[in-house]
Order: sequence, then C-alpha cells, then structure tokens
Amino acid sequence: MSWINSILNWWKNLFSSEKNKSEPVKEATPAVEISRTPGLNCPECGTRMVVSIQNLVNLEPLNCPTCGLELTVDVEHSQSALESLRKLQNGLEEASKVRKDAKV
Ligand SMILES: [Zn+2]
Repeated sequence: MSWINSILNWWKNLFSSEKNKSEPVKEATPAVEISRTPGLNCPECGTRMVVSIQNLVNLEPLNCPTCGLELTVDVEHSQSALESLRKLQNGLEEASKVRKDAKV
C-alpha cells in the first residue's frame, strides 16, 4: 500500500468516527491524540511528518525534516485516492462552514 493510501485510510477513519457518534465506543484509543497531527511516519527514519489534505490535493511533495527524504504524490497510481481526498476535503470545508454559521 502506498503512503498516500495510508494517509487516506487514516482520514477515512477520522471521518467515520465522526459519523458513528450515535454508536458510542468507549474504548480508550490514541485516536484523539493522533488527530491533532495528521501525517505519517517517515519510511526511512520514522520521523513524524505532518501532512494536510491540502498538501496531497495540491500534489505538494513532503520532505522529511530529519533525513531529507522526499515523498512525492504518485499521481498515476493515486488517482482514486486523490479523488477521495478531494471529496473528503470538500466535506470538511462544508462542515467547517456549517460550524461557523452556527456560531454567529
Ligand atoms: Zn526521514
């Protein structure tokens, strides 16, 4: 599985946990902690790299601050993943708009 897919799965998990609030899962997981810093571990040195959906959708390469490894988005093999990310991003933007409107 490519790194972009592991990121995508990570976001999908976040997204579904949002939806499944009606089914309370009281198990203690580190999910909340992870959700503050979306990203992945460098495949070379294990350094945590923060990635945003924006980075991926804009096909921005990721650079590991520790070992300098550059991860580029494999557009050809990531089309479906990128498409899902765009949808996910749109959904998140809509959700944040709704929240802002509700506050005013
Ligand atoms: Zn590294």
